[in-house]
Order: sequence, then C-alpha cells, then structure tokens
Amino acid sequence: MAAVALAALAMQGCATTGQPGAGGPSPEVATAPPKPWAKAFDLAEQKPGAAPSRDTLEGSLWMAIEKMEQDTRTSGARIQDKQVNDYVQGLVCKLAGTYCPDVRVYVTHVPQFNAFMTPNGMMQVWTGLLLRTQNEAQLATVLGHEIGHFLQRHSVKRYEDAIAKTNLLAVFQIAAAAGGMPVAGDAATLVTMGSIASFSRDNEREADDLGMRLLVENGYDAREASKIWDNLIAEMKADENSSSPLFFLASHPPSDERSRTLKTMAGEARLLGKQGETGAERYRRVFLPHRGEYLRDELNQRRYGRFDKLLDQLIEDGANVGELLYFRGELYRQRGKDGDLPKALAAYEAAMTAEGAPPELYRALGLLRLKSGETAAARTSLERFLELRPDAPDRDMIRMMIDQTRQVTE
Ligand SMILES: [Zn+2]
Repeated sequence: MAAVALAALAMQGCATTGQPGAGGPSPEVATAPPKPWAKAFDLAEQKPGAAPSRDTLEGSLWMAIEKMEQDTRTSGARIQDKQVNDYVQGLVCKLAGTYCPDVRVYVTHVPQFNAFMTPNGMMQVWTGLLLRTQNEAQLATVLGHEIGHFLQRHSVKRYEDAIAKTNLLAVFQIAAAAGGMPVAGDAATLVTMGSIASFSRDNEREADDLGMRLLVENGYDAREASKIWDNLIAEMKADENSSSPLFFLASHPPSDERSRTLKTMAGEARLLGKQGETGAERYRRVFLPHRGEYLRDELNQRRYGRFDKLLDQLIEDGANVGELLYFRGELYRQRGKDGDLPKALAAYEAAMTAEGAPPELYRALGLLRLKSGETAAARTSLERFLELRPDAPDRDMIRMMIDQTRQVTE
C-alpha cells in the first residue's frame, strides 16, 4: 500500500479532474490565466531534456518511477500492435514538440478511461480511453492535458509539497525498495491510485489551458475538447452502479465547469481564425480494426446502462454502425432481462443492413433464432457465418447445429 501511495503521488494522472471541493482557491481568486494563445511551451516550467540530479529529492523520485516504467515496458498488458503504438507515440510527439524525446508512451490494455504521465516522461494510455475518444482531436485533448501537467511539473511540485508537510520520506524509501506498483492491477488498487493521484483544481485548470493551446497550435478543432467531457458526464449519468463509477471518474468527476471553460476557449480560438480539423479519418483507420476488441472488454464489465450510452455516442459519431448495433444486440442477449431477447434480435437484424457488422453477428443471430424456434432462418444465419468465417474455431459445432436444423425441418 505504501508503494502504491507513493507511486500514485508521483503520477501525473487524472485526465478528468476538477471535482468540486478539491482544494485550492475558488475561481474568483484564482490567478488570472495567461493571455489567450500564448504559446504553450513559452508558459512551461519544465525545460526540454531536463533531468534532475540523482542526489535530489526529485532525482530519487525519478529512480523509483524508472522501476515502474521497466515493469510497464515488459508487462503483458502492453499493446503490441505497431500501428497503434506508432500512432499514439506520433501524436504525443507532435503535441510535445521539442519535448518529444522526453516522453515515452505505453499503450496498455485496460478497459478504463485513463491516461497519465509521470515526472520522468513515462506516459500510459489505456484502451478504455481509445474506445471513447472518437477522433484525433479528442485524443489530442487528453494527451495535451497530460503533457500540460508535465510541462508545469505538477506532480513534482505535489510530491515536494507532500514531503515538506509530512514525513513521506520514509514512505518513499519503502516504495523504492518495493519497486513501484502494479501496471494494471486489480480494480481496488487502481481506484486507490486514482484517488491519490488527483491534482488540485488549479493544476487541472492549468493543464486544461496548456492542453487547449497545444490542440489549437497543432491545427485541431478545439470544439472537440469539451465533447469528451460531455460524453463522460452522460455516460456517468447512465451508469446504474453509481457507487462504483467509471474508474477514473470515481475520484475525478468530469465537471460542467470544465466543459464550459473548454467551450469558451474553443470559441475564442475560432474568433482568432483558428478553425482546425478533427482528424477523424486518420483515427478511424488505426482504431476501427481494434474497436470490436475494446467493445468486448467493455461489455464484459456488465455495466449495461453505461455501455448502452457509450454505444449511443459512438452510433452518433457514425463509424461502422453495424458493429455497434451488433454489440447492442450482445448487450441485450447477455443482460437477459424480461423482454431483452426480442430487443437483441431486433438489434442484430438492424446490424445486418448497416456497415461494418462483424461475421460473428450471423452466429449470434443464428443461435438466437434457434432459441426462438425459427429453425430455417437460424440455418440461413449460421450458414452465412461459416461463409464469412470458414476457419472459425467453433466451425464443427456450427456445422452440427446446421445439420440438426435440417433434421427438424426435413
Ligand atoms: Zn489532470
């Protein structure tokens, strides 16, 4: 626990903070923000290529985090796909500019909305985030926010402040000996980390501000920034299990205030003639082939209200709607409440006429039709599945089912 506490303290996590009552001055007395569109790097406290001496407090913090980074590097949870890694690292580099060599990105298979950055430049991006950002501008919003924490040395300052106030040095020594923290541990550990890693509201505002500057300076449509938070708020409201909300939002609820501020900044950018692009096509090219896997992860968490809302949002975005309708059918089938099976059937049938449905749709449809006694229609679906997936691992079983439907009807 001590190791976790220290490591969490060192994380520049929390892409979504800004919770009420998090400490720090009220908005009225907060330091006036820099004038609009001052360059993000001109406001940065961190210097490119800077590394602390090993005999300083910050230096020893780095050493502890380097152990954590080693574990991350060799973790089985790391995404191996080269295209995904190159894309995320490339986007981080684009945003980080002269700081690019200082930042190392690890895309990690964890179905939770999260990205964080440590003071030594290790950044983790989790797949639950990649499922929810709908285009490059939205992903750049979160990455830019994390880079903003790094540029302002927020976690170093937070760490030094904590050391000054209490005797955390002992905790640190224990943590250094223990060697960091789990990369993608159990949910309770993650929630503990998330809650400890929260920043003050002022730090969050500053990271949002710098992130927004990076977004605009790199030619993105700044209106995409507030959409992420709006979507997260909607997803949170649709969650039937409010006592255990989206991992990251447990301690860092996305606030209406943050969304409003980002909208205001986006309006200012447009007034200054900075229109920008969303980069949706590039984003889809990389992530649509993986989205089914991320959706399956999400469904397996059995948070159906939340998942349903997420599907609504992705359907509205409009990419490969057939796949999304298939997963809506899967949701109903898996939930299995009264009246869900006809709904599942309707969703599967709708998926058939939409773009991007996976071959598994026909297996699901076939099995459901078998269950409801539509033998001939079931056979058609199962045959279609084998046409599309002749090498499916369960092909022998499906063939047997098809034979059985013949015996019933012939
Ligand atoms: Zn943050």
